[in-house]
This record gives sequence, structure tokens and C-alpha cells, in this order.
Amino acid sequence: MRITDSPEEAAWRAEVREFLEKELPPSLRNVNRGVRAGATKYGSEAQVKGKPEARAGGAGFKMAVEGPMGEWREKLAARGWIAPAWPKEYGGAGLTTMEQFIMNEEFAEAGAPTFGGMGVSMAGPTIIVHGTEEQKAEHLPKILRGETRWCQGFSEPGSGSDLASLQTRAVRDGDEYVINGSKIWTSGAQLSNWMFMLARTDPEAPKHRGISFFLVDFTSPGITVQPLVTMAGTTTFNQVFFDNVRVPAKNVVGEVNRGWYVGTTTLDFERSGIGAAVGMQQAVVDMIKFAREHAQDGMSQITRNSVVRNELIDRYIDVNVSKMLAYRVVDMQNRGRIPNHEASMAKLFATELRQRVWRTGHRLTGLYGLNWDRKSEYAPLNANYAHSYVESVSATIAGGTSEIQRNIIAQRGMGMPRD
Ligand SMILES: Cc1cc2nc3c(=O)[nH]c(=O)nc-3n(C[C@H](O)[C@H](O)[C@H](O)COP(=O)(O)OP(=O)(O)OC[C@H]3O[C@@H](n4cnc5c(N)ncnc54)[C@H](O)[C@@H]3O)c2cc1C
Repeated sequence: MRITDSPEEAAWRAEVREFLEKELPPSLRNVNRGVRAGATKYGSEAQVKGKPEARAGGAGFKMAVEGPMGEWREKLAARGWIAPAWPKEYGGAGLTTMEQFIMNEEFAEAGAPTFGGMGVSMAGPTIIVHGTEEQKAEHLPKILRGETRWCQGFSEPGSGSDLASLQTRAVRDGDEYVINGSKIWTSGAQLSNWMFMLARTDPEAPKHRGISFFLVDFTSPGITVQPLVTMAGTTTFNQVFFDNVRVPAKNVVGEVNRGWYVGTTTLDFERSGIGAAVGMQQAVVDMIKFAREHAQDGMSQITRNSVVRNELIDRYIDVNVSKMLAYRVVDMQNRGRIPNHEASMAKLFATELRQRVWRTGHRLTGLYGLNWDRKSEYAPLNANYAHSYVESVSATIAGGTSEIQRNIIAQRGMGMPRD
């Protein structure tokens, strides 16, 4: 594995870095830095009290952004950097995997915001690869302009790790399908106006072969979004109910009953997770700075508890291991190989590390670290360790649980038997 830049890669890195230095407004620099790394990946958070009310699908969608964030968005759009991995003909930048990796690493280092969410990373690539010309013309420009915000309707109550067992039904009726059922843990559904989803179109077929992939206008009658409150008191995900929702048959992507295979499309996205690895490294750097600055006051345990010192060293090593695992994944992709258990190793290590990092933050800040009130003068770093730790619990579930990653590593990486 090569971990230094070739001359071309170094030139590209310099170009991205110079762009960030020149164009990224100071107010947006570090908005994604360290302490909350990865926490916003699954959609905006809103701190809530009590049980939030269910709303009609699409009711929470707001057209993108104004002010410095809007200007930043325009600058990225002008370079095709809203969707850097999309081919140029569809408004992307057509970057190679290595170019994306370098860009993601530099953006993470600068804590720079990016746009497009699941529209750019999932819906768009699926439409590019499997969609009709009509679907491409309708959806791709709107995703790039921020006129649509997408959520992913895959998981159901009872179908998560075993996704192919999903039960939401889509029944053909003339030129439409009628959808009934429910999706759960749907990130960002409270803010979305479109959903890409899987539904069962042939209940008699073997379970992977009776599923179709639909694009659903989330403002269609019959869709209800019930926000779910996480243990951090935020609403990042939802349960979505479909009650006789009518979807035009032309909104099926790819062949009917072949949706399982459509749903696994990834395009040539780099999948190393380098952004999260850099974020964790920044968090540890910030933690060390905090330990130094507060060595003599009660907010830091660094001089009182030798366990804290040892843990900090371990985290310092861990974050470098996490980066190496990310480099390995992108190096494979760069050589035209498809990372498999290697990507599982990087995901498993990075998400479990995230929880370890925040635990160390707690140990460093002792009882002060438990303070939940972000405005309290007794809350170190605006209570970030308390909030980030609670939020990080979901990281080892979302995107495939740690147990499932371990199964993949055991079977495909280590050649262990299935049972
Ligand atoms: C923050 C967050 C955001 C999410 N966003 C979305 C989204 O936007 N859209 C979407 O569709 N889904 C989303 N999900 C759902 C996510 O994909 C599922 O939670 C995940 O796949 C696990 O499924 P499950 O929750 O049904 O758990 P289950 O599959 O029921 O698993 C329960 C437990 O059993 C273990 N287990 C299951 N099968 C095995 C096995 N074969 N071997 C060993 N152990 C096993 C699991 O590891 C877990 O500990 C999100 C989840 C989270 C936490």
C-alpha cells in the first residue's frame, strides 16, 4: 500500500487546499470539526421535548440555503463539487476515486460543509446507472440545485440486518402502484420531499427476487412521518407510514422485481470513511489541547488519574490506525479492486473508536463531563462529550451493525465457516 501522494495527487491536493483557503468563509471553517464528527451524517438534528407530532410527508422540506452557506454552495456547484463522483455529463466533476479521497480528506481537515446528502450519494448514482432518460432529466438537476432532499426507505420494523425480508407491499393498479406498509429509522424523512425505497412487488418469489426500487414523491397523499426521538433527545430519524400511496409505474428504477440489485448500486464512490477518521483525529487533538489547558483546574482529570493519560495515548494511536484502514480501502479501489471485508474492518473500527473517543473525553472531564446543559459554565466544551457520546451509540448500528461487519470479516476475510 502506498500512503504518499504521487506528483499528480500532490498537485490535486494543493488545488483543493488552495480553493478551501481562498473560498471557504471563516464562519464556515471547522463547522464539522472533530468533536461532532459523523454525528450529523444522518440528517439535521433538532433538540425536542416530549413526543413530536406526526406530519404529512414533505411537510418539513425547505429549499436550501442562503447567506454564506448559500454562497459556499454556489462555489461548489460551479466546479461540479456538489456531486464530485458523478460523471461530468450529469453535472458532477467526474473525479477518480483517489481524487475524491483527497478532496474528502482535505474537506474534513478544513471542517468544510458539503451538500446533497442521500440525493447525491445514493439516489443520484442509482438513477445514473439504472434510471431511464426521463428519470435522469427529472431528478438529477433538482438534486444538484437542492430542490429535492431525499431519504432512504429500506429498513422496516422486523427487517434491518435481514433487509430482504421486507414486507411493504406495492401492488400494480393500471399505470400506478399502490404502496402499503411502514419504514423505520428513516433518517432525515422529516425534512425530505422525495424518498427512494424498496417494496415487495412479488410476494411469491424468493425473497431477494420479488422486490422493486421506487422513487416516491414524498408529498403524495397517504404518507405520514412520525419523528422518533433518540436517547440524545434529538429527532434525526422517523417511522414512515404508507396508506394506499399511489406511485406512477414510471417511477420504478430498473426492472420490476430486480430492485434488490438496483439498491446495491454505489457508483465509483470512495468508501474509505476518511472523513470520519480525520474527524476522530481532530477530536483527539482537541482533547489533548483541553487536557493541557486545564491541567491545573478541576475540569481535567489529567494530573489526577493516570488511567486518563494512558487512554489518551491509546486513542492517539487508534485514530492513526483508523486512518490507515481508510487508506487501505481507497488504495484497493484505486487499483480497481472492490473492497469487501476491508471496508467492514474500516467501518467497524471507526464506529467503535468513535464511542471509545467520547468515553475517554468523559474520563478526562470527570463529573463535569456529565453536564448536559450546553450553556452551563461548568460544561466542558459546551457539553460536547456528553452529547457526542450519547449520539455515537447509533454509529455501530447504522449502515450495518458491528455484528454483521464481524460476520463479514470472519467469513470473507478469515475464511471461517458460516455457522
Ligand atoms: C442512526 C441510524 C440511522 C439510520 N438511517 C436509516 C435510513 O435512513 N434508512 C434506512 O432504511 N435505515 C436506516 N437505519 C436502519 C439501519 O440500517 C438498521 O438499524 C440496521 O441495519 C440494523 O437493523 P435493525 O435495527 O432492524 O436491527 P436487527 O437487524 O433486528 O438486529 C438486532 C440485533 O441483532 C444482531 N443481529 C442481526 N442479525 C445478525 C446476524 N446474522 N448475526 C449476528 N448478529 C445479528 C444485530 O447486530 C443487532 O445487535 C438507520 C439506523 C440508525 C441507527
